[in-house]
Amino acid sequence: MKDKCGVVGVRFDAEKNRDAAALYIYYALQALQHRGQESSGISVTNGSSVLSDKGMGLVADYFSRERLQKLAGYAGIGHVRYSTTGGSRLENSQPFSVTYKNGTISIAHNGNLVNYRELKKELEAQGRIFTSDSDTEVIAQMLARELIRNDIVEAVRETMKRLVGSYSLVILIGDCVIGVRDPLGFKPLCIGHVDNGYVLASESAAIDTLNGELVRDVAPGEMVILGEKIESHRLLRCKNHAHCMFEYVYFARPDSIMDGRLVYKVRHKIGQTLAAECPTKADIVSPVPDSGITSAIGYSTGSKIPYAEALIKNRYVNRTFIMPAQELRETAVRLKLNTVRSNIEGKNVILIDDSIVRGTTSRRIIDLVRRSGAKEIHARIGSPPIISPCYLGIDMATREELIAAHKTVKGVEFLIGANSLYYISLDGLVSAIGIPREDLCTGCLTGVYPIEIPGEKCEDKQLKLNQFVPE
Ligand code: AMP
Repeated sequence: MKDKCGVVGVRFDAEKNRDAAALYIYYALQALQHRGQESSGISVTNGSSVLSDKGMGLVADYFSRERLQKLAGYAGIGHVRYSTTGGSRLENSQPFSVTYKNGTISIAHNGNLVNYRELKKELEAQGRIFTSDSDTEVIAQMLARELIRNDIVEAVRETMKRLVGSYSLVILIGDCVIGVRDPLGFKPLCIGHVDNGYVLASESAAIDTLNGELVRDVAPGEMVILGEKIESHRLLRCKNHAHCMFEYVYFARPDSIMDGRLVYKVRHKIGQTLAAECPTKADIVSPVPDSGITSAIGYSTGSKIPYAEALIKNRYVNRTFIMPAQELRETAVRLKLNTVRSNIEGKNVILIDDSIVRGTTSRRIIDLVRRSGAKEIHARIGSPPIISPCYLGIDMATREELIAAHKTVKGVEFLIGANSLYYISLDGLVSAIGIPREDLCTGCLTGVYPIEIPGEKCEDKQLKLNQFVPE
């Protein structure tokens, strides 16, 4: 199961703010709603017991005032979840709670474990019973097992040594909130400071929302304990990291700072790079909203071609529901996106989008823009062709579904109906992100992954996960 998710942890000084953790988590989760819309959950503690509530749907839809009022506590964690691969069930929603010798562990996870089936089998053979098919429960059960013989720091270290894959975790144990980031740092996690307390969040935009201040990123392989004071333990170190490039391209909010880079700046640079790599004559440059906006502004700055919106997005429609008749399918697309005809008619349009996955969206959009009278449409894409699946936490598509896995650039150009198509180069993308290539995961672009994945190629010079450098 592949989850793209958002996590939050909040720990207040118990004397100064006894009840507010859930409300802070609620707002932070709303700031991270783009990372998952399927289910939401919050677990808090008042120092003696753990109170949890989780359900399907958006944070603001599920959590009523009454639900929140029942969650009085000064420390807690929260989660928003999105999964399309069969796991859309309440029992897979998070935080996940298991009992251990001293009480309850609640855990929320962003990422995907590659070896979770093996680990699950091992735990089942030892008599542990699972209530979900989520890899997060495997982490929770492993941690509970390790806590029988170790203190919390050693228990987390021993658990991490067994986990292969991506994981940014927030854990509620006793009245401590713990943040853990996998040793390759696939998924983001950062620490912030708020009045009378500290916050952990997938993205810094959530900290801004709480009127807090970003302190720093949790380092790859680091465990941070928010308790009476803050403790940091660097549990595992690898020679290189493997930050997910797709967070910068599409997934994260542009106003978030991840691993020291403002996502807005990266996307702006992606646009400038596209303009420099493939100069094109046109009358306007337009984004596919919302994900192409920042790169289209960058493209316009770089090319001096005026920025104008060819498309307007209806923000209140979430999914293109399946409608059988062709003419109604067209209505479904137009319900989500409409064109600004006067910006398009008789013009040569450069259309900027962040990525092409299956190619369906581009094809429909280009068709829409053409019907509104565009003379030429030149598609420019902010990531190189996606040729291989993601096993590490972005819910993308299977290899069969990935259009660039089967077609050349010319083939994709023909299929989406563009006059021309250009994808940013891998070097151009890496330099726009500003992180050395050996510290990025580009598995979906190259088919070569930073860790071993059965049936796939692995970076043979650096099996990153096997290069633990002792603390
Ligand atoms: P398509 O090529 O039809 O699969 O759609 C690609 C578009 O969907 C891109 O332009 C992105 O804006 C968006 N997108 C890319 N990756 C994802 C993802 N993992 N989940 C949801 N939407 C995505």
